[in-house]
Amino acid sequence: MLSCFLKGTVGMLHIGCHLSSSKGYAHMGKEALSIGADTFQFFTRNPRGGSAKPLNVADMENLRQMMEEHGFAKVIAHAPYTLNACAADEGLRAFARNTMADDLMRLEYIPGNYYNFHPGSHVKQGAEKGIELIAEALNAVLKPEQQTTVLLETMAGKGTEVGRTFEELRAIMDRVELNDHLGICMDTCHVWDGGYDIAGNLDAVLSEFDRLIGIDRLKALHLNDSMNPLGAHKDRHAKIGEGHIGTEALSAVTNHPLLKHLPFCLETPNELSGYAAEIALMRSLYQD
Ligand code: FE
Ligand code: FE
Ligand code: ZN
Repeated sequence: MLSCFLKGTVGMLHIGCHLSSSKGYAHMGKEALSIGADTFQFFTRNPRGGSAKPLNVADMENLRQMMEEHGFAKVIAHAPYTLNACAADEGLRAFARNTMADDLMRLEYIPGNYYNFHPGSHVKQGAEKGIELIAEALNAVLKPEQQTTVLLETMAGKGTEVGRTFEELRAIMDRVELNDHLGICMDTCHVWDGGYDIAGNLDAVLSEFDRLIGIDRLKALHLNDSMNPLGAHKDRHAKIGEGHIGTEALSAVTNHPLLKHLPFCLETPNELSGYAAEIALMRSLYQD
């Protein structure tokens, strides 16, 4: 029953955007505050993969304190999008596992936040094999004591991407032993491109999600408009109101009783000032 999970929380919209991590953690916190955000997302390292910067515990602790002081919602660390936990090549799979394990170790210095990753592309091995390999990677990297929740991002279904359907996401989670540490991040552009009509019938999409995965597993959203029509399987983000989903439908997402308490991160093609404007817009359309 969807209604079991109605939080009834009165409060502000938790919204932010993707920020550059090049100047460190505390800098992102300040930047978020400067644009009216109370959450944000960042890449844990170069989005194309590669090595992370040396661990700077003091910088991470500064962010942790800033978040506490200013009442931030949880933030989202995003894995490099080139990781492929279900690559056909074992070397590439090992790289994905090692990177995820290292990212998760680091995130324990800002405990209690989210680590979001793209499940992967099965590269013609078939979705079933992809699902198995992704679960295998998660079984290798999750630790009972970790305080980070790992989020599988809903995908647009471009190429051989796994995780377009709620069924596939559920199948991955079912195969993971420590699946208490797993949740879902719903990307509005991706689900739309994937064929879920969040503009025409958001309630139906959410009840489908609840039936297949459980609405309590939905932990965060990426708030993006889409350059393409429903079901295009493309994954091209548009600014809020400049795509096929539209401002009204996106504001219905942030205002939905099942979603309105969750953190929303914009990944729209914007500079900081554009993000500030979209955050202000979404806040103005939000009803407590
Ligand atoms: Fe993503
Ligand atoms: Fe996304
Ligand atoms: Zn995308």
